[in-house]
Amino acid sequence: MSEARLFVISAPSGCGKGTILKEVFKDIDVYYSVSCTTRKPREGEADGKDYFFVDKRKFNKLIKEDGFLEYAEFVENKYGTPKAPVLENLAAGRDVILEIETQGAFQVKEKMPESVLIFILAPSVSEIRRRLFKRATESEDVIEGRVSKAAGEIQKAFKYDYVIMNDELEKAVEDFKTVYNSARNGDGSADRFRADNEDTVNMINEVLENA
Ligand code: ADP
Ligand code: 5GP
Repeated sequence: MSEARLFVISAPSGCGKGTILKEVFKDIDVYYSVSCTTRKPREGEADGKDYFFVDKRKFNKLIKEDGFLEYAEFVENKYGTPKAPVLENLAAGRDVILEIETQGAFQVKEKMPESVLIFILAPSVSEIRRRLFKRATESEDVIEGRVSKAAGEIQKAFKYDYVIMNDELEKAVEDFKTVYNSARNGDGSADRFRADNEDTVNMINEVLENA
């Protein structure tokens, strides 16, 4: 059995990471890390499934107890990855996926350099805004807060290992699986998705210009 890998997925809110992962999980057996957050649940979100919803006191207690692999503040709320289940699953030989923002992703890469960082893009910031309004899970103010962070987050894509464009959903799901399998097997078949590939660099710059 090859060694279990830690995958870290980031994308600006609204790019479609939740939608892509839902499809990918139909074919791939991994442990999906459930984060702690101080934000309030959205309609339909369940405690312990989507997040562990905690108050600020509990979150700070977990920081003190060294309970997080990483944590960060994002649009006035705190988010953190519980450390123990990630380490336990990796030790048991099961791949792990974290869906976290960029500050947390770089904390993980620093602590665990063998982790694989994947960034998901949408074609433009205006498309991200359209998707968030269509999803309609947040107020207009909150959506604008998230959209205003998008370009800054996309700048960080250059520092990831792989970058995937979510324009057509089906293609993005296939590309994600290609990257996942290649990173597991170390066979280089997903090198065209590497962040330092010339086409990828051009693609990220194009999205930033489309902002
Ligand atoms: P995230 O998890 O990155 O915040 P979601 O997966 O919730 O984003 O997707 C945001 C919205 O965009 C959802 O309404 C989803 O249905 C829609 N969406 C996802 N991928 C695409 C796509 N390729 N084209 C158009 N809409 C998409
Ligand atoms: P949302 O509020 O839309 O669920 O998430 C907001 C942002 O926080 C997203 O970019 C999401 O990936 C990120 N996030 C979710 N959980 C964690 C976590 O445990 N740590 C960090 N650093 N970011 C997280």
